[in-house]
Amino acid sequence: MRKSTRKVVSAITAAAMVLSLAACGGKGSEETTAATTAAETTSAEAATEAPTEAQEPEEKNQQADIVVIGAGGAGMTAAIQAVQDGATDVIVLEKMPVTGGNTTRSTGGLNAAGTQYQEAEGIEDSVELFVEDTMKGGKELNDKELVTVMAENSNDALEWVNDLGADLTVVGIFGGASVKRIHRPSDTSAVGPVLVKTLNQTLEKLNIPVLLETKAEKILLDDEGAVCGVTAADKDGKEFTIDCTAVILATGGFGANSDMVVEYNSALAGFATTNHSGATGDGIAMAKEIGADFVDMEQIQTHPTVNPDTQTMYTEGVRGNGAILVNKEGKRFVNELETRDVVSAAILEQTDGVCYLVFDQAVRDSLAAIESYVKAGIVTEADTPEALGEAIGVDGAALAETFKTYAGYQKAGKDEEFGRESMELPLDQPKYYAALCAPAIHHTMGGVKINVGAEVLKEDGTPIPGLFAAGEVTGGVHGANRLGGNAVTDIVVFGRIAGSSAEDYVSDNGGHTEQEITAPESDVEASPAVEGNYKDGTYEGTGKGNNGDIKVQVTVENGSITSIELTEHGETEGIYEAAEKGVIADIIKNQTADVDAVSGATNTSNGIMEAVKNALADAQ
Ligand code: ADP
Repeated sequence: MRKSTRKVVSAITAAAMVLSLAACGGKGSEETTAATTAAETTSAEAATEAPTEAQEPEEKNQQADIVVIGAGGAGMTAAIQAVQDGATDVIVLEKMPVTGGNTTRSTGGLNAAGTQYQEAEGIEDSVELFVEDTMKGGKELNDKELVTVMAENSNDALEWVNDLGADLTVVGIFGGASVKRIHRPSDTSAVGPVLVKTLNQTLEKLNIPVLLETKAEKILLDDEGAVCGVTAADKDGKEFTIDCTAVILATGGFGANSDMVVEYNSALAGFATTNHSGATGDGIAMAKEIGADFVDMEQIQTHPTVNPDTQTMYTEGVRGNGAILVNKEGKRFVNELETRDVVSAAILEQTDGVCYLVFDQAVRDSLAAIESYVKAGIVTEADTPEALGEAIGVDGAALAETFKTYAGYQKAGKDEEFGRESMELPLDQPKYYAALCAPAIHHTMGGVKINVGAEVLKEDGTPIPGLFAAGEVTGGVHGANRLGGNAVTDIVVFGRIAGSSAEDYVSDNGGHTEQEITAPESDVEASPAVEGNYKDGTYEGTGKGNNGDIKVQVTVENGSITSIELTEHGETEGIYEAAEKGVIADIIKNQTADVDAVSGATNTSNGIMEAVKNALADAQ
């Protein structure tokens, strides 16, 4: 590896800051810089290292094949997928001292349909229902094509993160979902830290450099309008340029930039935010400068249950697992499992625009995340509903009556007042708990416009060559309202697609630089390790993939399978390539169609194997 965060290229950068066109230089230079790996840079110690080579009289631009801007869930996923697909020179820039962004704060889980965990619980779900729920939740403003890609690849995304070690195996229900679909860590803790830890460890394993406290400032285009570099500043504000073939924009949203929030939606002036301080919309600004198109910028979601003093967000899982909301009069006022926009609006209509999240011991015991709220001192407890009411300044008798009525609805399986369908628990197990909450800015649904290959589009609908984007910086997936659990699905599905698309783009545009990070197995040229025992010839076969039939053509020479070609399929761009490379190489190496599926592309892998088996039936 040869990238360094600490290189200072002031003269070149100064020019680059003025000219965004044709500003890339030195591509293919011989420069070799000090190695900086994720292992080194993810520690705070490494982040504060001083520049080591600032005194060099003349410095050239750094080089990379792919620069990923932002080390949140989407960026880390994209970098990993690109390397898994064979990319050899990927570098991640992160402006904060730690990786994770808003993803770390994500408390819910990953929505996926048709999973083994749903099946084990007898939950009937489908891609179509997932799409329907997401479109309905987003008030049909969503880009249905993007939503469909997200739903179709959700199961593979879940398997991919679980294969990396995330353990999202418990299925729960969140607002707007018709069935239990959100997959959470088996210890019921918040998903964000688990996911970020898993991705960090994988980056480290794959030796992918992450340059912390390094802020990307500008994306550079060449004379033809294709991406050719990024300018960035290190923690001392020293600027440098990285020449590259592709950029993946994964800078997250702008929920912590109150000026930008108000610019796009003035009704949200003065709102608190659940966002980390780095969610300032840098990616939007960078993309705007180079002519990207945007979608749904005014669509900004508030999360209904945020502590107004500490801004701690109570995960929707508390309501999903049984909690109800009551106002200052001790009364319920909404179906607690309605979508976030509906619940937020209902809270704002209550006295002082706040409410209480109330639950019993059984709910507390069902969700580890609640312990952190208790520890933070933002949950009031009491032995009875009456005492709880008195402790929070609400009429105790009214609150007790609300509990009693709700227990009746729960028992009858029918919420006569608000039509809540999932009522997990009767809320009658002492102790009783209450937590004050109000809505706060949560997710910016709008962003750069992408297509299903995660390419960033211009206003004329054509892609900016070499620019890809994923995660909260993009718009279109969530429409007017994001469902809980869809952010993590979005970042993993489209992060993976962006990584694969960028790697393909690099391969098609000059190929890799000489310095390799790793040599993933799937990239090893396929050659038989054992001899086959088939009749020579060309055979065709069909198997069932993720999105329908996959047709293959298998060539047998001198008794061995020498090539396999996918002749027809509808598999998702950016996902199927990993299965295509990995499974085909393995089949040829082992001369059998019984090989392991490629993680994260299980259905496609199985479809290819089935098709090859069918083809080989004629070659026996
Ligand atoms: P997503 O969920 O889309 O991955 P996150 O908020 O989790 O979004 O992550 C986005 C990451 O991008 C954050 O860690 C944030 O600090 C980082 N980031 C934002 N702007 C820049 C920038 N200009 N340069 C480098 N990193 C950035």
